[in-house]
Amino acid sequence: MAFESLTDKLQNVFKNLRSKGRLTEDDVKAALKEVKLALLEADVNFKVVKQFIKAVEERAIGADVMNGLNPGQMVIKIVNEEMVALMGSETTEIAFQPGKAITVIMMCGLQGAGKTTTTAKIAGKLKLKGKTPLLAACDVYRPAAIKQLQINGEKQKVEVFSMGENQKPANIAKAAIEHAKKNGNNVVILDTAGRLHVDEEMMEELQEIKKAVEVHQTLLVVDAMTGQDAVTVAKAFNDQIGIDGVILSKMDGDTRGGAALSVKAVTGKPILYVGMGEKLSDLEQFYPDRMASRILG
Ligand code: GDP
Repeated sequence: MAFESLTDKLQNVFKNLRSKGRLTEDDVKAALKEVKLALLEADVNFKVVKQFIKAVEERAIGADVMNGLNPGQMVIKIVNEEMVALMGSETTEIAFQPGKAITVIMMCGLQGAGKTTTTAKIAGKLKLKGKTPLLAACDVYRPAAIKQLQINGEKQKVEVFSMGENQKPANIAKAAIEHAKKNGNNVVILDTAGRLHVDEEMMEELQEIKKAVEVHQTLLVVDAMTGQDAVTVAKAFNDQIGIDGVILSKMDGDTRGGAALSVKAVTGKPILYVGMGEKLSDLEQFYPDRMASRILG
């Protein structure tokens, strides 16, 4: 990548300073100017940047420089820890219903975000955990969505439940769960329809599904390449239908991961997985510490 990493930049800011016992206000302010620029460059939400800088500043000014670290490394250490905290610290897993009860997962997201692909990717992960997922084709809006789910389902060797394009998504969801009960599937993943932008019709469709069946986990897929837009979209979905977690797709693209840093801060909901490519095996657990390293460069 062409840009100088934040870590390098910070090392430069401090290159003329001798290692001191404590971080002074001037040291910290000089370093945080670089951090702020880097975060804005990485397309982190402005409000999140401001809060973040304030938190680091409060912690760093007057902090003891640990043995073996120079002041720059000390600031980087604090920045890194605060980033991890902002992203939720821990990895989050999909929560399953206890015992033999069926877990219903509703996938949502804008068109093109990677929802149908991610649905099949998750099915593969669940199979590895010994689950028997059923995929339900509730996207009756986008031509070819059903076919795409069927092809991906076949690749993952998981069953796809479809009723064609002329049924309401809520009815398809209900029928899929009935089907799962008869067939012994313990997870049903609903692939719902997106739209190009956040719109009423899409949100109503999702609310209707939630009224018709008991959804245990609502997972939102957002495109990491869209930066702050991804965060705005996540907020809209969370405000209007309520989500339990986010999957950031297309993290394999040329993005610094600004969306990753803001999602939890803005919505309060964790990132569960990141999409790392088009192949159905390209889905990884989200690790806040790894993401912080990626953003820090
Ligand atoms: P949907 O409209 O939200 O269901 O989106 P799709 O699942 O059809 O995905 C849209 C496009 O994004 C497809 O070409 C996918 O192969 C691609 N895609 C999905 N996830 C990823 C990812 O993590 N990385 C990359 N590079 N491409 C992805």
